[in-house]
Amino acid sequence: MHEMGIAQELVKIALDALPKDLENPQVETLNLKIGKLSSVVEHSLTFCFEIITKDTPLENARLDIESVPVRIRCTGCGKEWEADTPVFQCSDCEQGKVEMLSGREIEIISMELFD
Ligand SMILES: [Zn+2]
Repeated sequence: MHEMGIAQELVKIALDALPKDLENPQVETLNLKIGKLSSVVEHSLTFCFEIITKDTPLENARLDIESVPVRIRCTGCGKEWEADTPVFQCSDCEQGKVEMLSGREIEIISMELFD
């Protein structure tokens, strides 16, 4: 289950990003962006997150996950499109050189704290 490693990484980044001058900051929501090809299972990530954030400012924080579609661009003809699975060939020119613009990211976009 690679979600545990990802959850640990996200928690580390989030804790580092907390304002240092706040006493007992409590995170209400953690907004994430997760690419469809990152192979992150959302409920596994949420589960791991809940376990490792116990007794931290992130305890009880809600994960708001935005799923990022896979965007593909053909370097031959410049066509861009979205896909649900990895693509290795352009359907228009069939030159077979495509690059992935998005779909693998795992990022924290923002955090919301309780007042
Ligand atoms: Zn093409």
